[in-house]
Amino acid sequence: MNNLENQKADNLEKSLTKANKIKLLGLSQNALAESLIKLGTHEKNVSMRVKQVWSWVYTHGEMDFREMTNLSKNFRVFLQKNFSTERPEIVKKQISKDGTRKYLLKTSNIGEFETVFIPDDDRGTVCLSSQIGCTLNCSFCHTGTQKLVRNLEPFEMVGQVLAIKDDLMDWCENSKHNKRLVSNIVIMGMGEPLYNFDHVKNGLDIIMHNEGLSLSRKKITLSTSGVVPNIHRVANEIGCLLAISLHATTDAVRNRLVPINKKWSITELMLSLKNYPKLSNSERITFEYVMLKDVNDSLDDAKRLVKLVQGIPAKINLIPFNPWPGSNFEPSSSEQIKKFSNILRKAGYSSPVRKPRGKDILAACGQLKSNSIKPKKNSLFQDPNYIIS
Ligand code: SAH
Ligand code: SF4
Repeated sequence: MNNLENQKADNLEKSLTKANKIKLLGLSQNALAESLIKLGTHEKNVSMRVKQVWSWVYTHGEMDFREMTNLSKNFRVFLQKNFSTERPEIVKKQISKDGTRKYLLKTSNIGEFETVFIPDDDRGTVCLSSQIGCTLNCSFCHTGTQKLVRNLEPFEMVGQVLAIKDDLMDWCENSKHNKRLVSNIVIMGMGEPLYNFDHVKNGLDIIMHNEGLSLSRKKITLSTSGVVPNIHRVANEIGCLLAISLHATTDAVRNRLVPINKKWSITELMLSLKNYPKLSNSERITFEYVMLKDVNDSLDDAKRLVKLVQGIPAKINLIPFNPWPGSNFEPSSSEQIKKFSNILRKAGYSSPVRKPRGKDILAACGQLKSNSIKPKKNSLFQDPNYIIS
């Protein structure tokens, strides 16, 4: 074999070893305990072992088993042999002039995905992706022009946060900052989270767990385009806050902007929200409303919007449209947005205008997209170790 072939064989062997190991990130404490027991760890030690490993990984950000120094040498070797701490690798990082950071990430699974960190004076928000591409194609959204490649797995949901915390050195050892830089999470990146419910839930469970990344459920907001059958599950099974991408006040316009509306109409969506479990004034539902010039920004729209949300503890986020290459809409003027927002405010609804962040690096709402495509059936690229972008 020549050098190149040797190297290829080496790489293949490495990735196969990696693929055979159990991925530690994304495993719940119970799932990790089960794996340890199956592999021969004594049951009486398991609960302590799980806590120790979680503390290294999620509190200290330590990914090298050899450095987990309060574990016995034998146990570290055992972990090394059976588990991988694989998490997304940063392929590319861009920093906007407003400080927003956009990352292109990949794992050993197919495809690449983007995630964003938005720093503010009082918080630092990670905008997580839930899928590569999207099955829906909202006409104003850049992600919607990328066909679904695949769902992200729990280790990739948690891994997005870990990769960012690494990049920011946001671990407890780093006493430079007295507070955590990553304080909030929005699931508003690529994809529709309620079409990947179980993986998103399992990832968020670890992010919220007090021995995991320990972010309060009230600092996490999941945004959906309106997958009605899964909306109540957000309150009942995840417990984080909910945002709804409404964007229109009539079915005719919403069918055009958010085509999932043809499946679940505005009436069905609002009914499900009126019956949403745990509704209280301290846990309002956020309605997202992208402001598109001459499409959905009339004052009649504002009045209809007030009627639609009546009876729901709500906050309405007005999002100036963020253009992307090839988009066919124009943003509403700031004057129109102000008039629109005044009507909502007079009716008693908080209606902040979302400040676009990271626009210069296409990191703002609805601008994310990667070049990954879904491999054709029977193609060489079906090999999970093969990464295309
Ligand atoms: N799929 C989910 C979450 C991701 S999109 C959803 O649709 O809710 C996050 C938010 O950005 C949504 O409210 C979406 O409608 C909005 N958005 C998409 N494209 C946009 C654009 N070009 N300008 C402004 N907001 C956009
Ligand atoms: Fe998908 Fe949300 Fe974009 Fe619609 S707005 S295409 S649901 S990511």
